Amino acid sequence: MRYEDFHRRSIEEPEAFWAEQARAIHWHKQPESILEYANPPFRRWFAGGETNLCHNAIDRHLAERGEQLALVAVSSETGSTREYTYRELHREVSTFAAVLKSLDVGRGDRVVVYMPNIAEAVFAMLACARIGAVHSVVFGGFAAHNLAVRIDDAEPKLLIAADAGSRGGKVIPYKPLVDAACAQAKSPPARVLMVDRGLAPYARTEARDVDYGEVRGRFEDAEVPVQWLESNEPSYLLYTSGTTGKPKGVQRDVGGYAVALAMSMWSIYDVRAGQVMFSTSDVGWAVGHSYNVYGPLIAGATTILYEGLPTTPDAGIWWRICEQYGVRTMFSSPTAVRVLKKQDPAWLTKYDLSALQYLFLAGEPLDEPTAHWINEGLGKTIIDNYWQTETGWPVLSLMPGVELKPVKFGSPGLPTPGYDVRVIDEATGEEAKPGEKGVLVIQPPLPPGCMTTVWRDDERFLSSYFSHFKELLYSSLDWAIRDQDGYTFILGRTDDVINVAGHRLGTREIEESVSSHPGVAEVAVIGVSDELKGQVPVVFATLKQAADSAVAAQEMQGRVVEQLGAIARPARVYVVAALPKTRSGKLLRRSIQALAESRDPGDLSTLDDPGSLEEIRDALERGADAGS
Ligand code: ATP
Ligand code: MG
Repeated sequence: MRYEDFHRRSIEEPEAFWAEQARAIHWHKQPESILEYANPPFRRWFAGGETNLCHNAIDRHLAERGEQLALVAVSSETGSTREYTYRELHREVSTFAAVLKSLDVGRGDRVVVYMPNIAEAVFAMLACARIGAVHSVVFGGFAAHNLAVRIDDAEPKLLIAADAGSRGGKVIPYKPLVDAACAQAKSPPARVLMVDRGLAPYARTEARDVDYGEVRGRFEDAEVPVQWLESNEPSYLLYTSGTTGKPKGVQRDVGGYAVALAMSMWSIYDVRAGQVMFSTSDVGWAVGHSYNVYGPLIAGATTILYEGLPTTPDAGIWWRICEQYGVRTMFSSPTAVRVLKKQDPAWLTKYDLSALQYLFLAGEPLDEPTAHWINEGLGKTIIDNYWQTETGWPVLSLMPGVELKPVKFGSPGLPTPGYDVRVIDEATGEEAKPGEKGVLVIQPPLPPGCMTTVWRDDERFLSSYFSHFKELLYSSLDWAIRDQDGYTFILGRTDDVINVAGHRLGTREIEESVSSHPGVAEVAVIGVSDELKGQVPVVFATLKQAADSAVAAQEMQGRVVEQLGAIARPARVYVVAALPKTRSGKLLRRSIQALAESRDPGDLSTLDDPGSLEEIRDALERGADAGS
């Protein structure tokens, strides 16, 4: 099959295309229509159909692959590996679902899950899906305030937490954060279900807290029937990273999501029943939802969940896992690869990776030097994936399961099925020509699996995503450029543009240029206000190895001038030890920019390491390593 034909059909005959794809999942009741689009941009896929995510992820496979591994949960933090066959997973999820029911949780009730990347988090999600409860997983690394904000938005009946997470060998107790969040929240959950890993003793709040280990014994043989849901009922809520502001509660449906994931598993990830997928993401992120939990299980594959750093006990851990389980497709992030890049590349070839075919990377720009480094080190196909929490699955990717088009480093490739992707000139609203920069937009109706709305806020759904152009278009809020072959390059977020003396420069372009310097590990470019030019680019970079900062900084300036011209010349370059990032590894440019302009860095609740912001402050005080 040709990629072009596959994609074209999804755009020109969406109903026929998706009706075909819908056959890959189990329907308790067949849909009455494939697409209902009476009220754009709101749309209803597979209206009237009834299905269930948990049934498709587990029950449906029991007869044929009950004894096959479904979930492997590896923790390099606790040194444990736990394996579950489909039958065992069914058992665990049924028990968990029975416990939820005993706590009066049912169809449509929200359940906040605040847990580390462990098997019980997967059980909790699937148990919610089984009984029709709406889970909202909050990344376990978030602080009490983040949790409280999400609790107040989702208004959960129940919160499920673990006693602790662990990072780099350091135990992080969750219970004090849960208690603080519940105290802060205006609508705290009535009950808290605690999964005790035995990492951090905690105090119980009477009449509210329930210990999972204590109650589960009563439900060890429980059979919990699947709650069939109409295709468009909410399956879960997931809040965006908050890189650009207040997180939005992305609402996902049931049927459309199941169909989109089933299609993406074979066509994009080239993974089929019986094969193994290893995503290093966390269940707290969109990738974790789609490709650690629902996608691989709906496909009847084995999914590997990993808790820990990519470098403990050593930098070979991920490749050892690939060897041991015969991983076919791996999924990670550019940040993680950049962490590995600081380690001995010999780790990449130490293990037998003959089963491994692809490494997909998503979540942020994959700079070319990093892509080359991992490509050459592993000798495997590296595929950049562009998507958003909102879309739930890739918008731009190569699709080796259909036809592997040539990889072009720096580009996540071509539109996936159902995504009618366009690049639009911001000012004129006209289609940008090949090679011209514009905003990446999606022509609605959005395909199955994409967000249906912002939780309880249709208005915000419209104003955040659909109000940027005269035409009704979904704006990704990312800059892009398309080449002659239709490959799309992402140039950064629309709010990450620098205006230097009337010239608009994307931070991404300058970052690419700086990171082509062999000594540079990571880089953030921001626009800082300047009396003369409006804004000037300022560089913050970390080095792979200790070196003369002033020399390196000057060389970075030189490269940018050489590659992008004098207009893009960084006014100042600061060499620092770390860059501030969100817990998902995304650069917090807006905070760096605020500090550089002596403003308040704003809401830092998603900041990973507070020390990294101090680094920026100190560097600004110390003065630049290179200036104009
Ligand atoms: P918020 O929307 O709350 O500000 P966020 O956009 O960081 O947060 P996510 O949905 O996790 O939240 O991230 C999606 C964004 O990540 C994309 O819009 C894009 O800016 C960036 N991104 C994801 N994948 C890629 C990629 N392959 N190349 C370049 N950028 C990417
Ligand atoms: Mg976003």
